[in-house]
Amino acid sequence: MTLTGIERFTVRRSSTEQSCAGVLPPTGHFIGGAFVPGSSTQFIDVVDPTTEQVIASVQAGTAADVDVAVEAAVAAQKSWGATTPKERSEVLSLIANIIEANREAFEIIESTNTGKPRAVAEDDVSSTIDTFRFMAGASRTLTSMAGGDYATGHTSVILREPVGVVGVITPWNYPLLMAAWKIAPILAAGNSIVLKPSEQTPLSTLKLAELVAGRIPDGILNIVTGQGRTVGQRLAEHPEIALVALTGSVVSGQAVAETAGRSVKRVHLELGGKAPVVVFPDADLRAAAAGVRNAGFWNAGQDCGAACRVLVHESVAEEFTEHLVREVGTLVVGAPGAGDDVEIGPMISRPHFERVKESLAEAKSAGLQVAIGGSAVDGPGYFIEPTVISNVPAGAHIATHEIFGPVVTVESFSTTEEAITRANESPYGLSASVWTRDSGLSLSVPKQLDFGTVWVNSHLVLACEVPWGGFKGSGYGRDLSLYALDDYSRTKHVMINHGA
Ligand code: NAD
Repeated sequence: MTLTGIERFTVRRSSTEQSCAGVLPPTGHFIGGAFVPGSSTQFIDVVDPTTEQVIASVQAGTAADVDVAVEAAVAAQKSWGATTPKERSEVLSLIANIIEANREAFEIIESTNTGKPRAVAEDDVSSTIDTFRFMAGASRTLTSMAGGDYATGHTSVILREPVGVVGVITPWNYPLLMAAWKIAPILAAGNSIVLKPSEQTPLSTLKLAELVAGRIPDGILNIVTGQGRTVGQRLAEHPEIALVALTGSVVSGQAVAETAGRSVKRVHLELGGKAPVVVFPDADLRAAAAGVRNAGFWNAGQDCGAACRVLVHESVAEEFTEHLVREVGTLVVGAPGAGDDVEIGPMISRPHFERVKESLAEAKSAGLQVAIGGSAVDGPGYFIEPTVISNVPAGAHIATHEIFGPVVTVESFSTTEEAITRANESPYGLSASVWTRDSGLSLSVPKQLDFGTVWVNSHLVLACEVPWGGFKGSGYGRDLSLYALDDYSRTKHVMINHGA
């Protein structure tokens, strides 16, 4: 089915190019509370994906740089780990306030470095502030199992302790927010950090370092820029790092887990996703289509929870697809700053752009039906048209692999059992949604779906109070909520023989 009368997407360009030149952070590594040069003379170019121009160059860190940062983190952790929850909470609140006071700088850096619309960057910064505020409060509420006599004459006390130094590796899709999801609970739990931002988007994380320098204890947050295979690899193998947390692709997660296994290091993995959207025949189809418009195309679909794989009941598949195509036809593709109505920015990089184009070409050559979009937009910039591929057969490659672009596929099913089986037939298990007005289905289907988050009549709505994380190939460990604080703590049992 192809709707006529929908204009071919064009990229709305901004008359004046957005620039973050006036607010760029220093580009050394941030170690022990100060920016320092790295041990290598190599640099990595950071590119604006809208213009394809280099906006900064950062240090290509080495294993030796990581070792220096770990030393600083080990030294700082001793006194930081001994602070009270109240003292740590005050530091987290201060970080939130610093970000809030500088939110425009963060927004312009983030939207220039990723090409994301300003509205998305604003949302990222608001969520970042909220993450620090939530963890500032939550860390003061922690309790553990009641102390007591569980063996005759012995009193048990359960202590919650920091794990020590945590290595953190973050992705490019929400650079500042994904860093905050790690930094806030890890510091709240009394650990220190060595963080490697994505080599493609290090600028907002370095800006955070610049602004907190001298205002939070030196050495509790260290940043080493560089590639995954050098800096990330060293974080995973360093003997003095107690836990390594990565948000990224499955392949990177596998590499980190394998390396970390050699030192029996704890691992926390937030990996890829391919979220099924199961639409039952009784659903409000317009609401479901509008939900997919928002949650499938937010951040140009470069979201691990993106609503990218629709499974709709065969009796309403055509009607639903029509609604969805109309919705998608209203999306505006453009440069950040080219208008408040711009909702779709570019892919992050040329290699990623080429990968998305390849997936689309493969779908077309397999004879799949492109209901809207389906092509790249002429440059400059790595823009892809918002795309819906309809009547996708079970097991098609495009519907089972993470595309990480503005591409939604539509498959149909005939029975509830088939919908559940097909939704679960995925290597990923991060998130899913169910659309129905039936109160029975709204409980029974989520219980049978093998995903860490299941929304009902909604998709991609997050809150700091509730956990985020996956099953199966999407990894393990939880971000946000009290569960993240658990993940970044260790419990110790102290048993006292009182002889009575
Ligand atoms: P990526 O795996 O390419 O990179 C993520 C980070 O890992 C980067 O900092 C990179 O340098 C580093 N890295 C790469 N190889 C490494 C290695 N061998 N050892 C150590 N570190 C290594 O992922 P990306 O392209 O930046 O981000 C997109 C991916 O992230 C998608 O798969 C997406 O689904 C996933 N993601 C998941 C979540 C979640 O919450 N589950 C959130 C955001 C993104």
